[in-house]
Amino acid sequence: MQINGIHHVTAIAGPARRNLDFYSRVLGLRLVKKTVNFDDPTTWHLYFGDAEGNPGTILTFFPWDHVAPGRLGVGETEVTAFRIPAAALGYWTHRLVAHGVVHDVPQKRFGETVLAFRDPDGMRLALVAVPGSEDEPAWDNGEVPVEAAIRGFHGVTLLVDKAEPTAAILADVFGFAEIAREGGVVRMQAAGTAHGGIVDLRAAGGFLPARMGAGSVHHVAFRAADDAEQARMVKTLVEKFGLRPTEQRDRNYFRSVYFREPGGVLFEIATDAPGFAIDEAPESLGSALKLPARYEKRRGEIEAVLPALA
Ligand code: ZN
Repeated sequence: MQINGIHHVTAIAGPARRNLDFYSRVLGLRLVKKTVNFDDPTTWHLYFGDAEGNPGTILTFFPWDHVAPGRLGVGETEVTAFRIPAAALGYWTHRLVAHGVVHDVPQKRFGETVLAFRDPDGMRLALVAVPGSEDEPAWDNGEVPVEAAIRGFHGVTLLVDKAEPTAAILADVFGFAEIAREGGVVRMQAAGTAHGGIVDLRAAGGFLPARMGAGSVHHVAFRAADDAEQARMVKTLVEKFGLRPTEQRDRNYFRSVYFREPGGVLFEIATDAPGFAIDEAPESLGSALKLPARYEKRRGEIEAVLPALA
């Protein structure tokens, strides 16, 4: 059976130490993997998620000490939204104020209460109060009470020229269906998927194109249960949509294929297997610098140049 929804979201950040502090301490996510950018091993790749690093909870960053701010535009993810228990909204409003986090007053969207805020790089985030999510597992690290903790992704909002071409890919390849429209936004949902089951498409024809930088989402990855399902998705992209996805790349914790969807957003298809416990015990996820085999012989050199995290 196809497992649908968002697998992970990857964004660009400023200094790694500030990024780690905000996501692990202020938002209370678990650092589930501390590794390097596989294409540039002298820079970090930090993975945050729930206690086990389950698909649908993973937000990853490429932090750079000196990176210009991004500019939001068409062909980009506008908002990355997390789920929180409905009763935790007051807690989070106070917490954002107490930590000096830039935020809006809660608003109703698609019948849900949404608390929008920014991370230290200006990345657009939101907490969505989801009744019933209090029963979902959460990471308890002592920073945020477990009854208020973030329960993985709710979804993302993509800023695209026109909604329809992106909606067709989400429907025909990733198992989403349109469930509502509100104020120029088309809401797509992956049935039966709690975490990362929502993609909102905001049609913003004529708006400037995005410029990647600090605070920008680099790509959104969707789930494939295994290699065979990923291959079927690629086949549909090629045969039905005339797209040319990349070859499969081994990312150690999942296997990935990338393509730019018609709205300009970089999409990835990531396998659920093997997951983050492949090179670290579940209880010690994120505690040691993990390197892919090809960089292991350069560990000393890499450790010497990576910016300090603490
Ligand atoms: Zn990715």
